[in-house]
Order: sequence, then C-alpha cells, then structure tokens
Amino acid sequence: MTEFCKMVLPDIVKTLYFLAMLLLLGACGSSTDPLSITKSGVEMPVDMQFGFNMIDFEVELDTIRSGDTFGKIMLSRDADFQKVDQAARQSRSSFDLRKIQLGKPYRILKSCDSLQQPLVFIYENDFLNYTVVDLREEVKVYEQKHPYELVERQLSGVIEGSLYETLQRQGIDQNLSQELANIYAWNIDFFRLYEGDKFKVIAHERKLRDGTMAGIKSIKAAVFEHRGDTYYAFAANVNEKTLQTEYYDEKGESLRRTFLKAPLKFNAYRISSRYNLQRKIAFYGNRTRAHKGTDYAAPVGTPIIATADGEVIEATRRGGNGIYAKIRHNGTYSTQYLHMKALNVKKGQRVRQGDIIGWIGMTGNTSGPHVCYRFWKNGRQVDPLQEKLPAAAPIAKSFATSYFEYIKLPFEQLACIPYPGENDLNSWPEITINNENALTSKKP
Ligand SMILES: [Zn+2]
Repeated sequence: MTEFCKMVLPDIVKTLYFLAMLLLLGACGSSTDPLSITKSGVEMPVDMQFGFNMIDFEVELDTIRSGDTFGKIMLSRDADFQKVDQAARQSRSSFDLRKIQLGKPYRILKSCDSLQQPLVFIYENDFLNYTVVDLREEVKVYEQKHPYELVERQLSGVIEGSLYETLQRQGIDQNLSQELANIYAWNIDFFRLYEGDKFKVIAHERKLRDGTMAGIKSIKAAVFEHRGDTYYAFAANVNEKTLQTEYYDEKGESLRRTFLKAPLKFNAYRISSRYNLQRKIAFYGNRTRAHKGTDYAAPVGTPIIATADGEVIEATRRGGNGIYAKIRHNGTYSTQYLHMKALNVKKGQRVRQGDIIGWIGMTGNTSGPHVCYRFWKNGRQVDPLQEKLPAAAPIAKSFATSYFEYIKLPFEQLACIPYPGENDLNSWPEITINNENALTSKKP
C-alpha cells in the first residue's frame, strides 16, 4: 500500500481492508505483531514482519522449487533485470543467493498497484535468519535475524549410539552436540562415548515471538557422566584478560586443559633437538631429514609423563620409533613419545596429565638417551612450542566467593532435572533471560 493508496481510501474501505487483512494474516499463520488500534478509532493496520510493514505490499509466499534460482523467480515476475543481476552479484559477499535451498520459504513483496512489481525478496535461511533483497531504490542485500528472547531450557539424555543419534532420537537441537563437544573437549572424547553415559544441560535457547524455538545459543550449566566420572561445567565470564565465557567445574577449575610444556618432570631434561623440518641428522649420514618431534635428553630410566589427559591408542615397539606410546587427547590433539626403555601403559588405558607412561631409553633410531615428543594436531605433526595451545587457569581468587555462590542455583537445578524415563515432578518453570548473566524467574 503506497502513500497514495492510503490517502484515497475512505474510512469504510479502510475498515473492510482491516477485516480482510485479518483473514489474510490468519491464512499466512505468521502474524507476529498486534494490529495497532488507537483512541481515535481503527488506524491502518501494522503487520511488521522481516522489518517490513506487510500491509504496504501485495505479499506472495512460496517455497523454493526444483530448478528455481533467485534470478528466475524474480525475472518471471518482471523484476528489473539490471537490479536482479546486481543483487545476485552483491549477495556473494553476504548470503550467496546461489545457495537457496529446495523447500525453503520465500516471500515477494510487490507494489500494490496494478503492475504488482516485485520490490523485495525475502528468503528464510532457517528459523532464525533471513535474507532480504530490496530492489526498491538502490539495491540492498542483507541478512537479518528475527528478534528473539533467550529462554532457559533443561535437557537430559542417556547415550545410545553417538551423541548425534541420541540427540536426534530425543528431538534435541543438534547445536547442543557442538556446544557440549566444545565445552568438554578436554574431558570427554565425544567420538568414544559409552552406552549409558548421560548428561543434563541447562541451555539458553532462542525463542521467536511466535513461540518457535530457533536453536540453542549457549550452555549455562551441564553435568556429564562419562565412564563413571562426573564432569560439571558452569559458564562464567570472569576472565578479565579474554572477557570470554569460560567453563569451570564445581571446584572452580577450568574445563580447558592445557598441555604440560614437556613430557618430563622437574626440569630434569634439556631439549637436545627441536622440531625442525630441515634438520641434518648424523644417524642418517647427515642427510636432511625433517625432525617433526622435540627431543628431550635425560638419563636412561627418567620417567616420561603424559602431557595431558587422554587414552593410550598405541603402546608398542616398532622400527625406528623403538618402544613408544601414542595418546589421543581429544578430536584434535594426540601426542607420541618415542625411544622408551619400557612402557608403563597399555593400549586402551586412560591416562591423566602427569601420569608416568614409560621411561627414557635408547630403543629405535637414537644416538643417545632421550624421548622424542611428537605432537599431532588434526592428524598432522606440528611444533607444540609454536602452537597457541589453550590456556586454562582456575577461577581467580578474587572471583572465587561469587563464583561458588553463583553456581549453587544451577547446581541444584541440574540435580532436579530428571533423565529420560525418570519421573518429571521436579521440573522447573521456563525462565526468560533478560541478560545472559542475570536471570529473572517467570511463571510457566
Ligand atoms: Zn626426535
């Protein structure tokens, strides 16, 4: 409806139009804003959606069909070719319109005159995000999020198969698996969950105005029971350096583990050879041979320790490596320890950071007693001394009191969440979150 349209409409027509719009909006089923009614009587209705007053346009709602492209959709409705072309090119720096997917809904806002000229194209990327192509004047292409509020949601699950399968079976948003994997990267190997492992989560979930749940944004608190151990995680934003949300356990320890700087204790070592891709090595007749490890020289029999928690995935004797162990820490990192005199671990064993896994020796290709420490990231050997490894400090003393006070409530809440199949009498009301750190309780 243009300004012109509004001026010539007599009141009675306005009223009829108002009623017609009510029916129309009902048919779309997506009206979000109340119609505006003032003391002076019925005014022009307002139906704000996607940042546009839908009343101002003739709205066509459809879904992407096989063979549809943005250009095809718009040009078949006589949109300006140059503008459509410009929009298509412009979109490549934001949401690329070539990536529109079959079955996704879109709207075309057309002029309300007899020309019904397509002016705006709105594509719904998902429940939360949408892309707007505005051809009215200067071509504009942008991505927006629907307004949402965060609500607190309580979830729990018992692992059957993978985490992904478990969440899917229980109808839980898959974002949760990514969030959990990030939080517990150093504690739990999500590729090796056990049947019967279980979790409870207090999550912040996005809720759109029409009540649609549009995905988990973050986790406030969680507890994961894995192989008989219980791992708590509470979100806190108390790191003055990073200003980022970190997760700490019930004792105030960071959930992010860092690697020990060396696989030997007490500085009883010297680095005899660093990671060096150009190293010439006497053992091989001084030919260049990449050294993808760091050698720590120490007397035969010196204990070698695991630099982080993990699972021993190799513990054997093989060729030039001699007696060695390899530990998988998480989906990203593994470490390897070569030339041992003897092993103190077996394949499949879980080790904690600092556990003695073997002793310095001279097995395999080596000219003196040392451990060759190899550091694997995503399946490739890298130099740990150059890697930006995650830092992990516990809660600062100055925040400890408020932290332990703060976690009391989520700790109790977690305890009250039932596992699937348990009775549900203790379930909590939905809580609306005004600020992710400050909570206000609302009646269900
Ligand atoms: Zn080496």
